[in-house]
Amino acid sequence: MNIILMGPPGAGKGTQAKKLVEEFGLTQISTGDLFRKAHAEQTDIGIIADYFTKFGRLVPDDVTNEMVTEYFKNNLKDMKNGFILDGYPRTIVQARELEFMAAHFGFKIDAVINLEIDPEILKARLSGRRTCRQCGTTFHIVYKPPRIEGVCDVCGGELYQRADENEEAVKARLDTYLKQTKPLIDYYQMKKELTNINGAQTMEDVYKDIKKCLEGKK
Ligand code: AMP
Repeated sequence: MNIILMGPPGAGKGTQAKKLVEEFGLTQISTGDLFRKAHAEQTDIGIIADYFTKFGRLVPDDVTNEMVTEYFKNNLKDMKNGFILDGYPRTIVQARELEFMAAHFGFKIDAVINLEIDPEILKARLSGRRTCRQCGTTFHIVYKPPRIEGVCDVCGGELYQRADENEEAVKARLDTYLKQTKPLIDYYQMKKELTNINGAQTMEDVYKDIKKCLEGKK
């Protein structure tokens, strides 16, 4: 099963994707993670992407599409149980390119899920978020604090605040989402491919709704 998981930054896409990976053996493809990894390795794409990500802006479509195409080219054969796209596509140009990739590589998207949530809740969620440098697990200083401050419960790694999760960058990311990604929701809605899920529920209830949607697609 191949899924697109959409929703504004902080809606819980990454957390839900990780649960789907564990239960169904899907491969999570997070373009945000791929850009962060590329930046840590100082590749050309990583250096270009950082100019945009640090200000909460989208990386240009051609750079993003090229990275995702390369990723499919190198990894699709290993994705035996399917994949979850987490954070891609984010523009209509990317959605069109994904349709081209599907035809080219011979896969089909089975579900497009959108986590809906009020922007005010997101601001609080994002600016309190802390991420493990080692394993990527996320915590929240109020809603999901680690047992020891600054230390990951899972692997003992150091927790840090992502550069794009300070108040100014969070605001920019939400503005970017409203301007550039929201139209994509209308695009999938018009194609009658979209399932909306209330992202303000508990993590467990959101996951239950996602599973219900996937059951209906079998
Ligand atoms: P995320 O971890 O999904 O919130 O992504 C972090 C940042 O990476 C975003 O704010 C963008 O700057 C960049 N990014 C991730 N995915 C995309 C995409 N599909 N198109 C353009 N930029 C992206």
